[in-house]
Amino acid sequence: MISTDYLVVGSGASGLAFADTLAEEEPDVELVLVDRRHGPGGHWLDAYPFVRLHTPSAYYGVDSLPLGEDRIDGSGENAGFYERATGAEVRDYFAEVASRLTQTGRVRILTEHEHLGRGEHGEQVRDLSTGALHQIEVRRKLVDARYLEASVPATHRPSFDVAAGAHVVPVNELPAAARSGTSYTVLGSGKTAVDACIWLLDNGVAPDRIQWVRPRDHWFHHRRHFQPLDLVGEIMEGISLDAEAAAEAADGEDLFDRLEESGRLVRIDPSARATMYRVTMLSPREIDALRQIDDVVRLGRVQRIEADRIVLSHGETDTSPDVLHVDCTARGLRNAPATPVFQPGKIVLQQVRQNSPAFNAALTAVVEAHPSEDPDKNRLCPPNPYPSSVDDWPALNRRTWQVEQRWLRDPDISRWVAESRLNLLRGLPDHAADPPVKAAIERFLTHVGPATERLRELDERRSVGSG
Ligand SMILES: Cc1cc2nc3c(=O)[nH]c(=O)nc-3n(C[C@H](O)[C@H](O)[C@H](O)COP(=O)(O)OP(=O)(O)OC[C@H]3O[C@@H](n4cnc5c(N)ncnc54)[C@H](O)[C@@H]3O)c2cc1C
Repeated sequence: MISTDYLVVGSGASGLAFADTLAEEEPDVELVLVDRRHGPGGHWLDAYPFVRLHTPSAYYGVDSLPLGEDRIDGSGENAGFYERATGAEVRDYFAEVASRLTQTGRVRILTEHEHLGRGEHGEQVRDLSTGALHQIEVRRKLVDARYLEASVPATHRPSFDVAAGAHVVPVNELPAAARSGTSYTVLGSGKTAVDACIWLLDNGVAPDRIQWVRPRDHWFHHRRHFQPLDLVGEIMEGISLDAEAAAEAADGEDLFDRLEESGRLVRIDPSARATMYRVTMLSPREIDALRQIDDVVRLGRVQRIEADRIVLSHGETDTSPDVLHVDCTARGLRNAPATPVFQPGKIVLQQVRQNSPAFNAALTAVVEAHPSEDPDKNRLCPPNPYPSSVDDWPALNRRTWQVEQRWLRDPDISRWVAESRLNLLRGLPDHAADPPVKAAIERFLTHVGPATERLRELDERRSVGSG
């Protein structure tokens, strides 16, 4: 029987970032990671061919190994911004991370192994290649690194029916299925649908050959506001605009008006009401490209695709057997309800600081290694569920600001945060005296207190309204 200190279920970015940091913090610790997939890297193994990170590589991955070279791209759609790894680069990177962890002799990674739950003699794991059942004795804790498991087009089951004669492919198959002269209907509101539209436009498909079925309109961030290191002032600027808008907002609608007015958020169609918010970012070039697509269907979610019509929750629209429908409706980030991160015998990895999944997993490992009891650990890592709609913005930001204050008050945690390559603000001290950065810091400090209070009120008002 295998025996280990920690059994980590899931060897995606979260499981690997946790294992990497815990192995660093505790020199004698032993970990076993199990994953159903054939290799480490999680959803990236099934990502569509033209996927890239949407955040810079500079603060993605695990703490001990840089991803990319922290280069600012000189040309292309990402010109002027920090490089973003392709899907293949992310997969290679996680394979290298796994190999380094294994070489320590303290970490085992069992791929094609599914965790089934607690058995009589330990945690039960099935070897998917042989069907054999194994028990794993866990001396300290089970780490659930799959609680926020991503749902991606290649592996999700679409929630709509497809009738005979209709032509539907998951976005992964778009490059292989695309033919000159074809018309396309892209299904979905999120970043994957955006990527599919941009891929079509970049590959010479005329905008009038693209129809976009968008159940919800989406608020996007400007990619400028997520640039680290030498451009970290832009992140600070973005956060300070959040705090200023929140402090002054009369209500939820006014909040988003202010965020749009300040350039912090953008909609593809400023005349359409946007209700979706998932901390997704786009470059100005992407926004301009997407605005060329006029044929937008806003009739709710797709229920059924037939040879000559698409049936949606609020109506229907024509289609034809010649149209290639591209399924981009997988949910992506999972909206799991918050649960304590530190539980008896168990750690459930979740988002703590917004937009920093790898950072959060590594931070949780630092807190686990911290000599304190679970209630204190949970104060340093309160769960902060992924947002889905505009209604989630107040709690998401308020929780992030509050927990950052707690980290600052703990010398060990604040030291780790300051030094970690996964911390998107790590370049801030080097630029804090630059006049625009200084102004952004001052704007943030002026507004963050009132903003936190205001967001609490807005959140409470919403809860009462919806209760
Ligand atoms: C297309 C896309 C692009 C993204 N881009 C970015 C980005 O640029 N920057 C960023 O910060 N975030 C990004 N994200 C967010 C992303 O979710 C995280 O970056 C991260 O990759 C998620 O890793 P994870 O380990 O939490 O989940 P996953 O990658 O989903 O890994 C969970 C793993 O758990 C395994 N598992 C589940 N159940 C079991 C079981 N019972 N037994 C064994 N194994 C099990 C699964 O097989 C899976 O491999 C992106 C997400 C998507 C979908």
